[in-house]
Amino acid sequence: MNKKTVDNIQVKGKKVLVRCDFNVPIKDGKITDETRILGALPTIKKLIADGAKVILCSHMGKPKGEPKPELSLAPVAERLSAHLGIPVVFAADDNVVGEQAKAAVAAMKDGEVVLLQNTRYRKEETKNEENFSKELASLAEVFVNDAFGSAHRAHCSTVGVTEFLDTAAAGYLLGKELDFLGKAVNDPERPLVAILGGAKVSDKINVINNLLEKVDTLIIGGGMAYTFMVAQGYSVGTSLLEADKVDFAKEMIAKAKAKGVNFLLPVDTVVGKEFKEDTEYKTVKSSEIPDGWMGLDIGEETRKLFADALKDAKTVIWNGPMGVFEMANFAKGTIAVAQALADIDAITIIGGGDSAAAVNQLGFGDKMSHISTGGGASMEFLEGKVLPGVAALNDK
Ligand code: AMP
Repeated sequence: MNKKTVDNIQVKGKKVLVRCDFNVPIKDGKITDETRILGALPTIKKLIADGAKVILCSHMGKPKGEPKPELSLAPVAERLSAHLGIPVVFAADDNVVGEQAKAAVAAMKDGEVVLLQNTRYRKEETKNEENFSKELASLAEVFVNDAFGSAHRAHCSTVGVTEFLDTAAAGYLLGKELDFLGKAVNDPERPLVAILGGAKVSDKINVINNLLEKVDTLIIGGGMAYTFMVAQGYSVGTSLLEADKVDFAKEMIAKAKAKGVNFLLPVDTVVGKEFKEDTEYKTVKSSEIPDGWMGLDIGEETRKLFADALKDAKTVIWNGPMGVFEMANFAKGTIAVAQALADIDAITIIGGGDSAAAVNQLGFGDKMSHISTGGGASMEFLEGKVLPGVAALNDK
């Protein structure tokens, strides 16, 4: 990576503001998934070991610019403290950079940790307004961004704050994300295969278009495949269809041909009568979807076809389930692709959001090389966009 990281900066005795991604799911005041807290620990531990005064900040959920007690970061401070084995002082100011935060920071010794309140309690945060950026910067001398999940947003705590501090570096988590995704897209071991699924073509237009410039094989499954089937002249019953994206799908099929990309669509599909778990279902050829039936998963032939296409792959990027994986009868295609990825000797990268949830929920999490912590950010990266939170960091 061409950006400075926590390995390239001097922090001994300095106050370091670290933007983490503590946007964890909370139910009745309890954190239900600590993945993001665990993901932040290596950077925090490194800074503690280097003798920094570590000031952590993050957003959680969407409090829309005002204090919402159910979105307080207090439970995160508690869990962080347990994982780090040292106290984490929580500065509970509703205005984030308030009297408690200032006093806590003033009292810090080297190697101590303070956590600020949810940055989105302040309405300026998501508008990247200067006053809040300055307030955040006033607490510290060095900035570290470790929040990949927010790197595609230009907010005070990801971008604005860097204008008022001389040093801005990447944390380990952010660095790891960029290393994996960057290598896969810009300098992959080939063959490079991308698998795209999920509900909508419209969400992934720029990803499909950009990846067709890079990949050797592009595999399309999930709800978005039906728009491509219509582009091939098939009828798709009551399956998900974005009629206004059929022309785009045709264009992409032509682009793949022109670029020599192996472009694979489902050859058969599991169709159901209704969108529900216990609906009647059967497998049909993609060209023979009957009226009144909807495609809910890829069929057995397609599972084999996709697994075969993955056999020799050296790098795989996967975003979006192959079917309605939340319903057991329609999870088999997604499981088959996860299994195919687990079986091959390749760098396997899972985009965040639903794909990460599917892979973890189906028990394949530890079989993948990298599961991204940022759904939106990883998609924007795959679209070829520059992430503002990364662009704002110091070059090496
Ligand atoms: P996305 O957020 O775009 O990755 O889409 C994920 C969602 O797509 C999941 O909730 C899946 O249930 C849904 N999905 C996948 N395949 C289908 C399909 N054939 N019909 C309807 N929904 C689907």
